[in-house]
Amino acid sequence: MSSTTKESLTEATFASFNLSDGTQRAITEVMGYTNCTSVQAETLPATLRGMDVVVKAKTGTGKTLAFLIPGIERMLKEPAGRGKVAMLVISPTRELAAQIAEEAKQLVRHHKLGVQVMFGGTNMNKDINDLQRRAPDVLVATPGRLLDHLQNTETLRPLLSNLRMLVLDEADRLLDMGFRQEIEKLTRMLPPKDGRQNMLFSATYPSNIRELSKIALRPEYQLVDTVG
Ligand code: ADP
Ligand code: MG
Repeated sequence: MSSTTKESLTEATFASFNLSDGTQRAITEVMGYTNCTSVQAETLPATLRGMDVVVKAKTGTGKTLAFLIPGIERMLKEPAGRGKVAMLVISPTRELAAQIAEEAKQLVRHHKLGVQVMFGGTNMNKDINDLQRRAPDVLVATPGRLLDHLQNTETLRPLLSNLRMLVLDEADRLLDMGFRQEIEKLTRMLPPKDGRQNMLFSATYPSNIRELSKIALRPEYQLVDTVG
């Protein structure tokens, strides 16, 4: 655990959120966490109710669990259905995507849920074989690879028809890396945003992130602006 995170732990505990038994046990036993960080304590009340959120918080404050927990809890209550992806997380880099997928795998340890990650620089047929063997409940991907599948291969798109949650992680980095067009294209290729919960996470909140929020989120989204 980084000291930054330790310092930002709050009085709020994960146990106070009435999470499913499997999720609670994973947090306690697999991850070893009891108390929420600020961003988790401020975000979970809204996201567990299914609200769209824009969350502004610094790097290292625990944003990953702030979206993974509500995602997992929602798909347990309202499954996307057999062979369908319930949650799509878009992440700017391979490293970040891989880290998110690892954290998701820990979190679903006691659930019968699958996690898959895909990013550029690897064989797309491997992605396709994995998707065909079992559609993941949680899919974490970089924008380029995701778009490549949606535009050039047939397997992924039908698996996304019942998407329950979309996460844009590190949205400011997504834009800094020049992914705006890709993100807009992606959101147009996915089913309409009204049918799912949309969450955007960013360390900063400049005007281009506000514009992206309007494109990707339902109009009544909540802004969670953590201190610092
Ligand atoms: P961010 O996405 O905001 O940069 P991460 O989600 O990657 O931050 O979390 C930063 C670090 O803090 C990770 O090592 C993570 O495992 C740890 N962490 C997250 N939540 C907690 C918590 N509630 N208690 C202790 N450590 C935590
Ligand atoms: Mg992060």
